[in-house]
Amino acid sequence: MTSTMNLNLDLYKAALLKRAAECRNDLEDVRKDVAIENTAEVMEQGIRAADREVAMERMETAYRQLRQVESALSRMERDEYGICLKCEDDIGQKRLDALPWAVLCVACQETAERLRGSGAALRRAA
Ligand SMILES: [Zn+2]
Repeated sequence: MTSTMNLNLDLYKAALLKRAAECRNDLEDVRKDVAIENTAEVMEQGIRAADREVAMERMETAYRQLRQVESALSRMERDEYGICLKCEDDIGQKRLDALPWAVLCVACQETAERLRGSGAALRRAA
């Protein structure tokens, strides 16, 4: 099944590759930060533990994003880019413009977030 939309795939591909590079940089940054923290940890255990939690969260976010981006790129290669994973509807150009790595349409994304509970919504609001 191929998207019925007339998407400029080159444009999205460029955006995805750029985002992937940013995520990898971010992961590398956090890894360095954590390495530095570990050596200082002995002296400032309390503060460092909190810092590390933030670093871990950043790493998780970057990692999750990277996986989304890579999945979008591989779907592009299979000619499935722009199709919702769940309902196989078009994701929609406006949504892809904002989130080139989106794999779900707005409706399915909302359902998925509801099922995941209020945690994600709360984090987003913060
Ligand atoms: Zn959908």
